[in-house]
Amino acid sequence: MADIIQLLPDHVANQIAAGEVVQRPSSVVKELLENAIDAEATTIKLIIKDAGKTLVQVIDNGKGMSTTDARLSFERHATSKIRTADDLFQLHTKGFRGEALASIAAIAHVELKTKQEHDDVGNAIIIEGSSIVSQDIVVTPKGTSISVKNLFFNIPARRNFLKSNAVELRHIIDEFHRVALAHPNISLSFFNNGSDVFNLSMGNYRQRIVSIFGNKTNEKLVPVEETTEVLKISGFVGKPEFSKKTRGEQYFFVNDRFIKSGYLNHAISSAFDGLLKNGLHPSYFLYLTVNPQTIDINIHPTKTEIKFDDEHTLYALLRSAVKHSLGQFNIAPVLDFERDPNLDTPYDYNKSEANNPVIEVDRSFNPFKESYNPGKQTTAFKTQTLTNWDSLYVGLESKGNDFRKEFSEVHFESEESTESIFGSDTQAEYVQTTYQLHNKYIVSTIKSGMLILDQYRAHQRILYEDFLKSMTIKEGMSQQLLFPLELHFSTTDIDIIKQLKQDLEHAGFVFSNIHKDLVEIMGLPVNIPEHDVRNILEYLISDVENEVPDSNFSATDLLAKSMAKSLAIKRGQSLKKDEQEHLVNSLFACKEPNVSPNNKATFITMSVDELDKKFI
Ligand code: ADP
Ligand code: MG
Repeated sequence: MADIIQLLPDHVANQIAAGEVVQRPSSVVKELLENAIDAEATTIKLIIKDAGKTLVQVIDNGKGMSTTDARLSFERHATSKIRTADDLFQLHTKGFRGEALASIAAIAHVELKTKQEHDDVGNAIIIEGSSIVSQDIVVTPKGTSISVKNLFFNIPARRNFLKSNAVELRHIIDEFHRVALAHPNISLSFFNNGSDVFNLSMGNYRQRIVSIFGNKTNEKLVPVEETTEVLKISGFVGKPEFSKKTRGEQYFFVNDRFIKSGYLNHAISSAFDGLLKNGLHPSYFLYLTVNPQTIDINIHPTKTEIKFDDEHTLYALLRSAVKHSLGQFNIAPVLDFERDPNLDTPYDYNKSEANNPVIEVDRSFNPFKESYNPGKQTTAFKTQTLTNWDSLYVGLESKGNDFRKEFSEVHFESEESTESIFGSDTQAEYVQTTYQLHNKYIVSTIKSGMLILDQYRAHQRILYEDFLKSMTIKEGMSQQLLFPLELHFSTTDIDIIKQLKQDLEHAGFVFSNIHKDLVEIMGLPVNIPEHDVRNILEYLISDVENEVPDSNFSATDLLAKSMAKSLAIKRGQSLKKDEQEHLVNSLFACKEPNVSPNNKATFITMSVDELDKKFI
């Protein structure tokens, strides 16, 4: 048989390899910014159009390239940064694999202009799909400018795979943040479709963090400093009270390189043990300096993963450094870690000043006297049962709002099925036998056997449908606030809020002002308690960031989901009998009672037959 193996032509090999390095526009941003930093630039400008799909351009004032180097830079494995394999363990640069420019040039239209300081003129190269279109002498300032246009022009499948501009822009901003946080000594600017997104001047780490995440961040940062023989740790962790529900601002740098490490992230989280309520994530900006010989960066093409020689020691050091800082800054663990929600302070109390405890000594106290009543001392912890149970059903029957009535005419398609599932004759009788299991599930008798309902998901469904109705049928019922609510967000989060402003207004939000890192809210949808607003907006922002599929993206829907998610009664909350029944009944009054807004089962049933079988 004839030989069939052939060497792939260079441009095909480059295209294949490009897939590893360049997944989306943000990968180009990362590689170009890193090259500019390696070229010792002190000012870098990033310009993008259409979330990088049409253009990514990076202009730096670094050392530039000679005529030959400019041409060579696009060859695979062409690098000025290492010469031998040993150099891999002496790295002081971001790049070293010499494949970024070759990869990018294989799948885009690239224009390079570059000039070294002492040359009179520079070089311009145009290269498209790995072939050189032109190379000329040009007049250009010291440094390098690289424009990458029409990414994936020759790989339509890849291009189609790209997400919406909002999502791709988010990825780019993430990369930009990582680079910007690692290099506060470089001034960085970022323009998107002609308007400036960031303009960061040189400064220290703290200043850089604050200029990215907003002025309010400053007071949240607790410094972490530790120097040992093997490593130096510096940076900040966020105070526990500023930890976030849905995601933390978590940045971990090793020798100025942003690194993802689940293991070391765990070290930091565990230092917060007892300080954070369940499900919250700490923020951190930590910078590790280690001897380059003790790490291997070359284990992943995008260089965001890293192998440490001695991960265990690092884990312990990191954990204790963070713990130490938290301790030093007097941040003591909250005692009500796994608290019973029934013991929660009423919301009105949250804002009032804490009274200093007064020590009262009962001088006439005689423990042997019968009338002594030890119960008296514990009144402070008296259980507050949820008497006002309609507050659980925010959005259904909250005070001063006949929300539920407004929609009583709305026809529920599933009303018939309610009947059939609970038995048509004595529905009420069946439904009344509910039981709460582990503060999570509601068990109820039904005609065919039993029903087990997930309280959190069920309530989400109920609220979700109600919010949707209120937003689509009766738009924008809002309650005026006495004092405007001011909420601080990072500038990127503010951008997302701006994008969603119209939908939020439909839902009943009234914004009096949106600043760079602050929103002022004058009015809220009637069903939303003021203290939940921040949560809802955070859920919403993170949902938008988390790659909501483009096709059926509807901001109204998303908003309803986020509001439902944050306002729904959570697992772990105990419900009284009537609350349990109300939950079951309201769920089956929904259009789609079977699934939560995120398409997860809200309940399961088990028939008597199935039960019988288990007892055979
Ligand atoms: P690597 O960064 O891994 O070396 P790249 O493909 O990213 O590989 O770049 C190839 C080479 O081109 C670099 O080693 C560097 O010498 C040169 N180069 C790339 N970008 C710049 C820039 N902005 N300024 C100066 N030189 C650059
Ligand atoms: Mg590079």
